[in-house]
Amino acid sequence: MGREGAFVRPFDILVVGGGPAGLLTAAELSEKHRVALIDSKRLGQTSKFWVTTRRRLQKYELQDCVLSAPSKMTAGTFLGGYVAVDGDFAVVNDRRILEVLIERCRQRSVRLVENCSLISLKWCSDHIQACTTDDSFSVRAIVDASGGSSSIASTFRLHKIDGFYAVYGCELKNIEMKSQDIVLGYVAQLGDPPPIFEIVPTGENSAYCVVFIFSRSLLAPDILATSFERHCRHNPFFSLTTNTEQGERKAGAIAIGHRYRRKLPGILSVGEAAMIQPPLMGTAFNEVLEHTHSICRHLSQELLTNSSIVGAAGPPYPLLKRAQDRLQLFMARRLITGNVEAFDATLRAVAKLPNDIAFNFFSNELSWSQLLRLSLLLPNILTRNQA
Ligand SMILES: Cc1cc2nc3c(=O)[nH]c(=O)nc-3n(C[C@H](O)[C@H](O)[C@H](O)COP(=O)(O)OP(=O)(O)OC[C@H]3O[C@@H](n4cnc5c(N)ncnc54)[C@H](O)[C@@H]3O)c2cc1C
Repeated sequence: MGREGAFVRPFDILVVGGGPAGLLTAAELSEKHRVALIDSKRLGQTSKFWVTTRRRLQKYELQDCVLSAPSKMTAGTFLGGYVAVDGDFAVVNDRRILEVLIERCRQRSVRLVENCSLISLKWCSDHIQACTTDDSFSVRAIVDASGGSSSIASTFRLHKIDGFYAVYGCELKNIEMKSQDIVLGYVAQLGDPPPIFEIVPTGENSAYCVVFIFSRSLLAPDILATSFERHCRHNPFFSLTTNTEQGERKAGAIAIGHRYRRKLPGILSVGEAAMIQPPLMGTAFNEVLEHTHSICRHLSQELLTNSSIVGAAGPPYPLLKRAQDRLQLFMARRLITGNVEAFDATLRAVAKLPNDIAFNFFSNELSWSQLLRLSLLLPNILTRNQA
């Protein structure tokens, strides 16, 4: 197996993965460099959906890729914890955003190769040879944007995984919505850990509805199917009608953990492959929108000042972001081990905060003083979990 004898295509950068992280990075980098992008599936399709803010979409002129713009996000549990946060939320039109980014890549001459997987990497003196199921690529940098199950990360043991967050559901059309708020998490059912129901309005009578569950081991998302059906039939937020239609399944497992500081020359991980997916609204899609400009500037600078493989320095994430990622990871670990009480205690703690801090906590945009204030609530969360 392999394509050792295949034609070797010279590029500056090979992007592996055509999700939002890969497409956005390829489009940005292609302004100054020769970029190729491969995806193991067809481009423009995803089994995920994305909630972000209008501000973040505007940074990349993607503000037209919105299905709905709820102004409130809520979460609650049957133990009484409840939080409501106002903000400029945006539910992304996933097909449209991928189409726009693919078109942007095409216009900037990115070589896009679908149904093509990475087979092997070989480090040579001044380039990396990437062997794929299509051609071989000779490049000076590889951007790993292949998501949480990145084969580069698993081969070189780059991820430290604490647990997973299995998600299962779909878009429901023609439902009777009782509110247009995003329901980030509603816990109505016992379980260890309990299933959490999420409702993301996509229009007046439609919403992405998923059940998710935090756990230490990887759960196949479709074991949540029965729980999903039950939550759809009985919940306080919408009712099914005789005309209700179910869309394509949105399912997957998001790994919770962090990326080891181990460096590989010429390899830069972005998006979920970089394990920048804290559990709340600061998940990888948001982080991609927040940091792609600076990551691309950094990589571009390295390519322009260096004639061989770029150095192993990671992306220049600010200290404040890294501190918040740690906090979010801490929260996620509590959720994995702490069952519904941990979720409830987190909501009660966040409910005590002013709206701006609560919003910035969800979206990973805290200032240092807000982060300090939130950290002071941690003992409260820990005590409740032990009670
Ligand atoms: C149901 C669901 C809902 C979610 N909701 C949100 C949300 O609301 N907000 C949010 O921020 N995040 C959300 N997430 C997390 C979401 O996964 C990430 O935020 C986002 O998709 C990460 O983008 P990415 O480009 O890094 O990875 P992905 O979107 O996973 O894209 C990776 C791409 O790489 C390709 N690929 C994989 N392996 C290879 C290979 N070996 N060779 C070539 N190509 C490869 C895949 O085909 C895919 O196209 C959700 C996830 C799920 C499952």
